[in-house]
Amino acid sequence: MTKKNELPFGSIIGILGGGQLGRMLSLSASQLGFKTHIYDPDINAPAKQVTNLSSTFEYDDFKNLENFANKVDVITYEFENIPLETIKFCQNLKSVYPNYKSLGICQDRITEKNFLKSIGVETVKFEMASSYEEIKIAIENIGLPVVIKTSRFGYDGKGQKVIYKKEEIEKIVSEFIDVQVVIEKFIEFELEISVIICRDMSGKISAYDPSENIHKNGILVESKVPANISFSTSSDAIILASKIVRNLNYIGVMGIEFFITKEKKILVNEMAPRVHNSGHWTQTGCIISQFEQHIRAITGTPIGDGRRHSNVLMKNILGNQIFDINYENEKSINIYGKDKVKNNRKMGHVNIIK
Ligand code: AMP
Repeated sequence: MTKKNELPFGSIIGILGGGQLGRMLSLSASQLGFKTHIYDPDINAPAKQVTNLSSTFEYDDFKNLENFANKVDVITYEFENIPLETIKFCQNLKSVYPNYKSLGICQDRITEKNFLKSIGVETVKFEMASSYEEIKIAIENIGLPVVIKTSRFGYDGKGQKVIYKKEEIEKIVSEFIDVQVVIEKFIEFELEISVIICRDMSGKISAYDPSENIHKNGILVESKVPANISFSTSSDAIILASKIVRNLNYIGVMGIEFFITKEKKILVNEMAPRVHNSGHWTQTGCIISQFEQHIRAITGTPIGDGRRHSNVLMKNILGNQIFDINYENEKSINIYGKDKVKNNRKMGHVNIIK
């Protein structure tokens, strides 16, 4: 069956990455009448339990990537550390969303911050450095306390440390030798929020209400909507998010994390070119979840508005908490089907209507 301007029902969506995000994307794709093909080097990747087709090869195995690309109708990805070369290769064979440029910018904290600066979006004060001497100078310029972060491949608080005191500098910096880092001012923010936003092929933008996010040791623990922010802060954050996706000519869902300072300044912390953990509440709080919205956007299907009908608290199920789930009281439970339980590993989440 052919639909107007859209991928026909039964088309195959190729998803690079088979974690929980790929899994939930695959479930939404199926709900919309599409098939999925998950490509992940891990045979036990959670998304492989809920997909029509799968491939188990490395991301730089170009022969098998070619086979994968030839079998699908459109390609997307579920995590930002997919090698850029992989995306470059795939986009010569099939359309890839979000675009190569957006992924490149988001993969590196320095290019990300420079991009934001170039479009007039404010971030935390930062400097880049790549040697002990440069790091020391950057810390002096910015002033303690600072956060030192690797510019690439950091996630869930990995690859970053806070330096509070002068005496800690030498020991902490020694853990970051020979890598490009960014030194950021450590800020006493009032709260952290994120905006999950979607842009479709016609340029239409739809954003969800910002969620208020609680992190522990850099890992998201819970997100709640509505966030404890004013209407104007909420609108301003959405306007900034729209500016970002419009400038990138972005197609699909993006998650943007912000710090709200005590002075009510809105600073972008990080952008993720994919569906986002802090948007899982949309499965219960909105008619169209972030996963459905992303699948709609990348298949040329009209996207819906992100209207919220309920207040939701989303809690991640981390590590051993999976053995201690309280199934009582109304809550929607999502288990990701991971093969091993590890300390602080995201094993699932619950959405509770408040
Ligand atoms: P990131 O990987 O940059 O998202 O950082 C993970 C978490 O660490 C954030 O969500 C914050 O809770 C905290 N964090 C990161 N950067 C800063 C900063 N410059 N000041 C204060 N807290 C930060």
